[in-house]
Order: sequence, then structure tokens, then C-alpha cells
Amino acid sequence: MSRVVIIGGGPGGYESALVAAQLGAEVTVVDTDGLGGSAVLTDCVPSKTLIATAELMTEMADAAELGIESRDHQGDPSTTLEVDLATVNARVKRLAADQSADIARRLERDGVQVVRGRGRLDGPGTVAVELADGPSTGSGESGTDTITADAVLLATGAAPRTLPSAVPDGERILTWEQVYDLTEVPTGLIVVGSGVTGAEFASAYLALGIPVTLVSSRDRVLPGEDADAAQVLEDVLTRRGMNVLGQSRMESVTRDGDVVTVRLTDGREVQGSHCVLALGSVPNTSDLGLEEAGVITDDGGFVKVDRVSRTSARGVYAAGDCTGVLMLASVAAMQGRIAMWHFLGDAVAPLDLKQVASNVFTAPEIATVGWSQRAIDAGEIQAETVMLPLKGNPRAKMQGVQDGFVKLFCRPGTGIVVGGVVVGPRASELIHPVSLAVAESITADQLAQAFTVYPSMSGSVAEAARRLHHF
Ligand SMILES: Cc1cc2nc3c(=O)[nH]c(=O)nc-3n(C[C@H](O)[C@H](O)[C@H](O)COP(=O)(O)OP(=O)(O)OC[C@H]3O[C@@H](n4cnc5c(N)ncnc54)[C@H](O)[C@@H]3O)c2cc1C
Repeated sequence: MSRVVIIGGGPGGYESALVAAQLGAEVTVVDTDGLGGSAVLTDCVPSKTLIATAELMTEMADAAELGIESRDHQGDPSTTLEVDLATVNARVKRLAADQSADIARRLERDGVQVVRGRGRLDGPGTVAVELADGPSTGSGESGTDTITADAVLLATGAAPRTLPSAVPDGERILTWEQVYDLTEVPTGLIVVGSGVTGAEFASAYLALGIPVTLVSSRDRVLPGEDADAAQVLEDVLTRRGMNVLGQSRMESVTRDGDVVTVRLTDGREVQGSHCVLALGSVPNTSDLGLEEAGVITDDGGFVKVDRVSRTSARGVYAAGDCTGVLMLASVAAMQGRIAMWHFLGDAVAPLDLKQVASNVFTAPEIATVGWSQRAIDAGEIQAETVMLPLKGNPRAKMQGVQDGFVKLFCRPGTGIVVGGVVVGPRASELIHPVSLAVAESITADQLAQAFTVYPSMSGSVAEAARRLHHF
């Protein structure tokens, strides 16, 4: 029986453990912080749970247009809805803990052994574990364990990047992992960083009624996303009252009592009650024994892998954020599964990033799949493009949705759909037909021919596909 040891219990780790167990391997997961990893305990699950509350607030903000009025205790019209952040955050933590417990139960049921502790490579086929608690289960001194394996999967994830000039204090200067300890509503929140994480938190807290300043070092928010989508988002956020500071590079973040000051490199200062730092991530790859085991990392410390998740060391695979390939839970899980399929001799297709659907959970959401507009404009692929605003969609009109669009890209000759972007409420759900089309090389005509419900937002996906029809 093959022995597999997985270091890290996030989606890269636990999903691969399930596959390896299914294929008959003896599997051990070594994890420090709790099953589910950052994805479940501090990143995806908590942020999307917070955003669920923010979504409701966004919908309520437009309630008057749909004929709903709220009244205060005296019966007078009132537009004030207040968020109880302590309750929201308690719910966030409860949900995250429950999800982690679910994963633990699933692994146990599938016969995966879980060891709580910090793992490191002790050569390519051995993992040394500093146990978090309990007696040693194998060879090794008390408090440590040594596990041998035919294959090791590194899935140690990444952690928020901080700077010496902007040190989080866990109270008012916060990483994204620390925001769920807030019990009082910030009176002025500064979010530094306008990538996906910064944009999501800025959008969510704005919807919760908190004055937000977004400090962006680039011309516009979400520099890595579709430019039209980012423009829609920036327009909406600005219209809702966010102070978006473009081309503003943070130099330092300091705190004096209740006041947090963000100093910009051009000398300007922004003040608020709290600051969230969203400065990207650094891989958890130091002190893993990588160099000694022959595992090569890049300049940023990310483990180098090929498309079946092999590292430079024989029998050592890596998956997820520690590889920096594409920092998404779904990609981490797929990289991990691919590693196990490959090692255990099952059918395997190499990772194809052109099929990854992803979403920015702002209001409106931005979902993308396949080739991007940027790649098309740069001539990397030839494609025809159509962009259809959502505001012409009957369902959107009924729901009072004004912002957003559907964009589709297809190959000029064959009409095969190679990518798309959806901006709108629940874009994360609407992207699925486009994602299917990309994965299965479906043509725009085929996509247009499938029935959509009338009235529905997905009608716009079919309509966009119809517009790509050639005689
Ligand atoms: C705010 C935020 C929101 C996000 N939202 C989404 C989203 O909505 N959708 C999405 O797809 N992605 C999202 N992501 C990205 C997603 O969280 C990551 O891509 C995902 O967590 C990566 O999974 P992983 O298994 O590589 O690592 P992780 O989830 O980080 O898990 C790694 C685990 O390994 C443990 N570990 C580290 N070193 C060791 C060691 N030496 N020994 C034992 N254990 C160790 C860590 O403590 C951790 O528990 C979000 C990220 C952030 C920051």
C-alpha cells in the first residue's frame, strides 16, 4: 500500500487526502491550525460569510425603489439599518468552525489519519512533525514524530504580507485574518490594497454602512481583472460613497490611540478609526526543509511545480497557495487532486488555468473564465468579443439592477467560446454556462440554442452568444 503524507490541511491538502484515500493509499495529514486551513478558518469562508450579510444590506439599500419603506419606532420613515458586527462576526466564526469540524469528520470517515503539528521535510521521503499536543504516534522523541512516505504533498498555503512600516496590532491595524475580532463598528475604515481581497473588504464594509477609504497604488481598482469590469465596480463604489484614492501608494500605517493614520508616499495622509491591510500573500515555505530535500522555490519563496504538481524533488508534490500558481481554493484543491491521481497512477489531465472560473465577491460581483480581454487585445489569441449591458435584461429591470454586463469571447472561425466575464449580482452563479462552454469547447451558437428561463439574468448570456452568430 502506498503511503502519502500531506503537510497542510487546507483545500490543497484535505481534498487530495480524500482522493488518495479513495485510491487506496494510507494517508496522513499533518496540520497546525485546524482542518480547512486558511480557506476555511480565516480567508474564503469567513469573508464570504461576512459578504452574505453585506449583500443583504446592499439589497436593502435599494428597497425603496422596489416599494419597501422602513419606519422608526415613532412610525416615521427611516432609512437607517444598522449592522451588529459582534453578531455578524460570531456567526462568521461559528460557521468556519463548523465547516472545519465537517472536514475533520469526513477525513476520519474516509480513514485519513490527522496529526496536529508542524511538519517539515527531513529528506524527500520523510516528514518530521513537531506535535501540537498528545504523545508521539510513531518513531521519534516525545513531542515529535517522524513519518516516512512514498510521496509527500506540500500544501502549506500562504499568509498575509505585512511591512515593517505597517505592523498589524490586531485591534485597529488589521490583517484580513483579524477583522473578525472586531466587535464595534469602525467609524472610518481605510483599506490598503485594491486587489481582489482589498476590493472585497472595502465593498463589504461600505455596504454595512461604514465610511470606507480605499487606498490603491494603481490607476484603478482590481488592476488584475477585466478593465471594463473594474471600471463598473469603481463607478458603483464611488457612487455609493466610497473614497477611492487611485495612484496612492501607502508608505506607513501608524496608530495613535483611537486614530489610525495611513501616510502615502507623496506625503498625503488619510485618517480613520481602523485600517485593513490587503497587501498580498507570502508563501508558508520557510523552515520546511525544502532546500535540503532538493525542492526548488522561486525568488518569492513559492514552490516551483509542473502542471501535474511535481516539484523538483522526486516523490515530493506541492499544491495550492504555497506554489503561487493561482491563489484560489478551487485551484489548490485541483492541484492536490492532480498530484494524487498522478502519483497513484489514476487517469490525470494536467492543470489548465484557462478553464478556471473565478469571482470577485464585490457588489456587483465580477466573474471570469477562460481567455481575458487583455490577452485578446495583446494578440495572444484571436477572438471576437461581445459585451451586453445587464440593464436591458427584463429580470434586471424588475429587480432594479442597473450595473453590470455579460461579455463573451469566441474564436473567429469556429465560434468556439474561449472566455467570458459577467458583472452583476450573483455573477458567480451566472458564469457557469460560460465555464461549461469553455471547458467543453461549445460554440456560441450552441450556447445560444439552449433554453434560458424567461425572465432571467442568464437570458443575457444566451443573448450575448446570439450576437456572436455569423451567417
Ligand atoms: C480574504 C480571502 C478570501 C478568499 N476568498 C476566496 C474565495 O472566495 N474563493 C477561492 O477560491 N479562494 C479564495 N481565497 C484564496 C484561498 O483562501 C486560498 O487559495 C486557499 O486557502 C489555498 O489553499 P491551500 O490549501 O493552499 O492553503 P491554506 O488554506 O492556507 O491551508 C494551508 C494550511 O497549512 C497549514 N500549515 C502551514 N505550514 C504548515 C506546516 N509546516 N505543517 C503543518 N501545517 C502547516 C496552515 O496553518 C494552513 O492551515 C481567498 C483568500 C483570501 C485571503
